[in-house]
Amino acid sequence: MVALDRKQIVQNAKHLVVKVGTNVLTTAEGRLNAERIQRLVGELCAIHARGVYTTLVSSGAIGAGMGRLGLAERPKFSPTLQALAAIGQGALIQNYEEEFSKRGVVAAQVLLTASDLSSRERYLNIRNTFYTLFNYGAIPIVNENDAVSSAELSLTFGDNDRLAALVSCLFPEPLTILLTDVDGLYDGDPALPESKLVSKVDKWSPALMEMVAEKKSSRSKGGMSSKLKAARTVTSVGGTLLVANGDDPDILSKIFAGAEVGTLFLPSERLAARKRWFRQAPSCGTLVVDAGAARALLKQGKSLLTIGVVETRGTFRKGDVVSIVDLQGRELGRGLSNYSSQDAQLVCGKRSNELADALGQDRDVYEEIVHRDNFQITVVD
Ligand code: GLU
Repeated sequence: MVALDRKQIVQNAKHLVVKVGTNVLTTAEGRLNAERIQRLVGELCAIHARGVYTTLVSSGAIGAGMGRLGLAERPKFSPTLQALAAIGQGALIQNYEEEFSKRGVVAAQVLLTASDLSSRERYLNIRNTFYTLFNYGAIPIVNENDAVSSAELSLTFGDNDRLAALVSCLFPEPLTILLTDVDGLYDGDPALPESKLVSKVDKWSPALMEMVAEKKSSRSKGGMSSKLKAARTVTSVGGTLLVANGDDPDILSKIFAGAEVGTLFLPSERLAARKRWFRQAPSCGTLVVDAGAARALLKQGKSLLTIGVVETRGTFRKGDVVSIVDLQGRELGRGLSNYSSQDAQLVCGKRSNELADALGQDRDVYEEIVHRDNFQITVVD
């Protein structure tokens, strides 16, 4: 029965996003594993031939750059990593280009930074580009634009698991497959024989995050916790995510044949396209709310009023995505702010009859700093 469910899920998917980690794509010495890339491209072309809109999110630029320069250890400093990515990305895309074109499939390179997805306009623009590529029958190959990304400027996705999750959110009911070097999520330390592979997660719980012990390699970035976060993002916008072992060269064929491999995370919510965007978009600022406002948002389905906001953080414009947190710093949800950060500071904590005076003349006055229609809960009970 479970096998049948899986088969239906994967075979019904219209949009597929496959993410491959550095450990899968590079050898232990840090060189690109040409044979693995060949097999992967072969499998992707077979899925693409079934009419599935297929996107590949590929890591491996930094790994390939390290291989090119003969470095054994992953450097720690951003400019060095960025330079290595710039060196390696060309080699990576060249490999893909050769393999896809051998099979008559057009490949396209898309490099993104996190801020590209936080503006609604750019988000829509990127989505249009993807849809146009699909119309041309092309397979987009996505990576972070590492050469310009910067953690300090909040431009970075953090890792490619998150990038893959955010790219998946561009599409309705996506299937996301994260190929890594382990079989999936284990209910204990994967090194211990008593630990079992979790085959399916149909309900999100905070206890899941406690299951994952961090173990990172010297060449790659994310770990199982970043895969769980990606699963949370994708499933909360109506998508399905599978974590599976990319060291198996036939893994995608097995998945599409319905084999019970890896850990499958089932969708928890189906959201309209606009909510899908701001539910996952990187936020531009934060509104800290009091306990009454938190209750109104979470339990009573109400808007966030100015009186319930105790503090605003960051710089944002009217209409930008903001994160709404309680007094303990826990994110309750995300929404679109009716005020810029400057105006939000003037109105926070104010009653509706005090707003016009606080803002001064000729300013739009909203009782709701975030309207219910522009709000989406993100916290897990
Ligand atoms: N963008 C990085 C690269 O191509 C990978 C980041 C990651 O693996 O999470 O090397």
